[in-house]
Amino acid sequence: MKKNIVTVGVIVLFLSCATNPFTGNKTLALVPNSQLFPTAFAQYDQFLTENNVITGTSDSEMIKRVGQRIAVAAERWLNANGHQGYLDDYKWEYNLVNDKNVNAWCMPGGKIVFYTGILPIAQNESGIAAIMGHEVAHALANHGQQRMSAGMLQQVGAVAGNIAIKDEQSRNLFNQAYGVGSQVGVMLPFSRSHETQSDEIGLYLMAIAGYNPSEAAELWKRMKANSGGEAPPEFMSTHPSNDTRIKNLEQWASKAVAEAKKFGVDSFRPLGNF
Ligand SMILES: [Zn+2]
Repeated sequence: MKKNIVTVGVIVLFLSCATNPFTGNKTLALVPNSQLFPTAFAQYDQFLTENNVITGTSDSEMIKRVGQRIAVAAERWLNANGHQGYLDDYKWEYNLVNDKNVNAWCMPGGKIVFYTGILPIAQNESGIAAIMGHEVAHALANHGQQRMSAGMLQQVGAVAGNIAIKDEQSRNLFNQAYGVGSQVGVMLPFSRSHETQSDEIGLYLMAIAGYNPSEAAELWKRMKANSGGEAPPEFMSTHPSNDTRIKNLEQWASKAVAEAKKFGVDSFRPLGNF
C-alpha cells in the first residue's frame, strides 16, 4: 500500500507536457530535456566506446555531411515556424559504426548513429537523408520519451526530475526506448502514429536539406524487399505496413517539394551513389 502511494507520487511528478513543434499538440514529456539530455549524452559516449566507430572514410564523412544538412534544415524549419531556441540544448553528433544490423537511431539532443548494415539499403546519399530525416524527426518530437513509460523511468532511476542510469538493466531499458538495442536487427519502430508523423516530418527535413523527397518511398521499397518473407517480430504489429508507408510517402512528396520551396530550395541534389 505504501509502495503504491510512492509510485503514484513519482508518476505525477514526471507527467508534464511539452508541445510538439510540428503538430502543435501537447505531448507527454516525462522528464524535461534539460535533465534528459545529460543522460543521453553519457549513454551515447558509452555506446561509442563499446562499438567500432568508423572515421575518415567516405561513408563516415557522408553520414556527417547528411546529418549536418538535416540539422540545419531542422533549425531553419523550427525558426520559420516560431520555435526559435528549440535546439539550443542539442549537441548534434553523427557517427557510423561497423555493425551488420540494419539500424539507425537518434538519441535525445541529436546524438545519431548509423550502422554499416543499413548502408546497402540506403543505397545512396538521398536514402541516407531519408533515414536521417526520419530518425531526427522522432527525436524532435520526443517520441522516445513517450515510449519510455513512467514505470520504465522508475527502473532507470528518475529521481527528482533527473535520470540516473543505475545498472546494466536500466541502461538497457533506456537504450531500448531509443532504438539502440541491436538485438532487434532493424530500425526499431515506434507506434504507428509516431512512425507516420516521423515519415512526414522527415520528408520535409530531407527536402529542405536539398534531397529529393521522392527518394524516401524508394528507400522504403528497398526496406520492404530486405525484410523479405520473414515473419515480422511481435512489436511490428503496431507498425504501419510497408505498403501504407510507401503510399503515404509518395503522396506527401509534392507537399515536401512545396515546403522546400519556401526555404529557397527548388532543385535537388543528385542521388549521390556510393
Ligand atoms: Zn521510426
